Amino acid sequence: MLVYLFTCILVYISPMNKKTVKDIDLKNKHVLMRVDFNVPMADGKVTDDKRIKAALPTIQYVLDQSASLILMSHLGRPKSALRQAQDTASDSAFSLRAASEVLSTLLNRPVQMAPDCIGAEVEKMAKALKPGEVLMLENTRFHAGEEKNDLEFARQLASLGDVYVNDAFGSAHRAHASTEGVARFLPAVSGFLMEQELEYLGRAVANPVHPYIAILGGAKVSDKILVVESLLSKCDKMIIGGGMANTFLAAQGLNMQDSLVEAESMELAKSIMAKSSDKLILPIDAVIADKFDAEANTKTVPIDKIPTGWRMLDVGPKTLELYQITLKGVKLVVWNGPVGVFEMPKFAEGTFALARMLAESGAITVIGGGDSASAVKKAGVAQKMTHVSTGGGASLEFLEGKILPGVAALLDG
Ligand code: AMP
Repeated sequence: MLVYLFTCILVYISPMNKKTVKDIDLKNKHVLMRVDFNVPMADGKVTDDKRIKAALPTIQYVLDQSASLILMSHLGRPKSALRQAQDTASDSAFSLRAASEVLSTLLNRPVQMAPDCIGAEVEKMAKALKPGEVLMLENTRFHAGEEKNDLEFARQLASLGDVYVNDAFGSAHRAHASTEGVARFLPAVSGFLMEQELEYLGRAVANPVHPYIAILGGAKVSDKILVVESLLSKCDKMIIGGGMANTFLAAQGLNMQDSLVEAESMELAKSIMAKSSDKLILPIDAVIADKFDAEANTKTVPIDKIPTGWRMLDVGPKTLELYQITLKGVKLVVWNGPVGVFEMPKFAEGTFALARMLAESGAITVIGGGDSASAVKKAGVAQKMTHVSTGGGASLEFLEGKILPGVAALLDG
């Protein structure tokens, strides 16, 4: 009973427990919604509509509630000079017009495009919206006030709506006007995509089920050290692979030859191993290359037998067997960072084999965004993962245990 009560209190005060679109009345309201339409573009066209599609469930829900919808997003990093030239903003390479057209096709209804994201004309367009109508604001980063989280700019954005919905998890680690500032002026709730991210990434950092295995890879220890420290206290085992593992192995006294090793992180690696050596799983063999090149000569060797002039670019088959044994019976896996240079086919097998193991593990599998998300996709198993995060930087900061400003700004559930 005591344990039950304690769990209830924890859930209640959890920063992940936020109000969602389902918790407020949206009927006939003007809903100002932050989405992540920071989509890849080429020649003025959207080349991948994944992020637009990811926002559709919330967009559709809001429209089904007879609300008017005003969408805002950033796109790329427009230069400051361009931010002054708002009159030409919609013609620029950073315009959200192409994204609004893709959305219109996906929704099968018109999406009006605003000439800017604030100002008299935009206010008029927003006010005139009827229930079920959609207005896309122009790139919020055309205004310097966005990244400065300028209160007056945020107030002007907020004046367009009655309610604020944030469905842009990928931008939630930034305290910008459209992700944090507007929430000071309007009731603020999460969309379904944000809710899902908080739910699954939340499982990695609060009350995880066990056995729980964290897998961390990627290039550098220094980029992931806070995640290593945060997750080590929660998981049962931690697999460390990729370039990161080299620094740990070098700290154990192995000669990693020309592998990527961060000399400045060796002491840190030593102190982590001193505290948690029973939890860490490091590579025991490696696919090595005579140069960092897709066409390099390769060999598979035990981890302590890397010849002079060679470097480790992937984990070897014995390490994969070790992963298979470690993952047996696991209930929760959180994975951030590839265990090899998976962009080059000769060094992709470790990462892809690991992705396939997770797909078959029967565990809750949570994939941190960025490279790991692209690795599970390339391995053809993205659909078999429980959750693939849409946020690279945001998911990393979340796993570090940080409270993201865009999440903190939402009403507690
Ligand atoms: P991160 O952004 O820190 O997750 O790092 C991802 C990058 O790490 C990918 O581009 C991989 O190519 C790279 N990587 C993975 N394993 C290695 C390795 N053994 N040596 C060098 N780079 C690696």
